[in-house]
Amino acid sequence: MSVTVKSEHEIELMREAGHLLEKVHEDLYPYIKPGVSTKELDRIGEEMIRSLGCTPNFLNYEGFPGSFCICRNDEVVHGIPSEKKIIQEGDLVKIDAGLIYKGYHSDAARTYAVGEVPEEARKLIRVTEECFFAGIRYARAGKHLNDISKAIGACAAKHRFGIVRDLTGHGIGTHLHEDPVIPNYPQKGRGIKLLPGMTLAIEPMINLGRGDVAWLDDDWTVVTMDGSLSAHYENTILITDGEPEILTLTKPWK
Ligand code: MG
Repeated sequence: MSVTVKSEHEIELMREAGHLLEKVHEDLYPYIKPGVSTKELDRIGEEMIRSLGCTPNFLNYEGFPGSFCICRNDEVVHGIPSEKKIIQEGDLVKIDAGLIYKGYHSDAARTYAVGEVPEEARKLIRVTEECFFAGIRYARAGKHLNDISKAIGACAAKHRFGIVRDLTGHGIGTHLHEDPVIPNYPQKGRGIKLLPGMTLAIEPMINLGRGDVAWLDDDWTVVTMDGSLSAHYENTILITDGEPEILTLTKPWK
């Protein structure tokens, strides 16, 4: 599949898909409290998506058995919602969500600290967001894909955190995962030239320890190999003639 450039009409739909997903993240946040299971969060979140007239795009994606990917602490991504996984005080919780609005996909992830967490955990969340923003400084027409990857990698390296290399960001549109693949570390080539109308899901996954990850026996949940904490921050963005537009974050971010 080649990288798609969206028309004005498609961009409008992508924008709406993004704004609705931002709302779901905001509305779900108050429910992330000690004692709630990740299955319950998934149920509440799915109801929110459906009440907006949208469809959760993660549900049944390659067989994934949930509408949200919910991870705690050393779980990196693709955590399966479960009655047995109960949010505890001090947890780092990652909510990765996506929806389909009139055939167009959005995808965004947030990491939250539940109650008191060690300063290094707060720093990890902060730096992971910083890596995203460092990357999208280069998400401009005329720049190349590797400019984004390099900037994300440099930001994580500066703080001596581990960059997850086995998972990447991606193009997004009428499919959840489109070309290009967007690594969070420098590549050999420059990568594709960025054009206005490209929509990308940029998603640094950063570990407090090393960047190596492993897959659990459920074939989905990715965890840090060394058991260290992991954070994830993702938004769907649009390349324009000027500044990138963050479709899943309408609040001021500069
Ligand atoms: Mg994604």
